[in-house]
Amino acid sequence: MRRERFEAWLRNIYETQDVEISCTECFDQVSHFVEIEASGRDVAGELPQVKQHLDQCRACREEYEILRDLRRLEDEEDMPSLDDLQGSIR
Ligand SMILES: [Zn+2]
Repeated sequence: MRRERFEAWLRNIYETQDVEISCTECFDQVSHFVEIEASGRDVAGELPQVKQHLDQCRACREEYEILRDLRRLEDEEDMPSLDDLQGSIR
């Protein structure tokens, strides 16, 4: 590998790590993300990396949408308790 290419490759890795987070990190923060968003704060300003990841990653986006919808149901106070849910499954 030529030296310039190697350096470009290295730079690319570091820049990527700087800006992007992995799905695991996103998953760890996504419930926090939903909480901030629900409280009306600037979630893109507080968790820009999570926001960016959600824009790019379909799997995490779906996870986020599920959590967000659950959160909305809780706000409406129509959320059945876990016991009720388990009872209706049986
Ligand atoms: Zn992801």
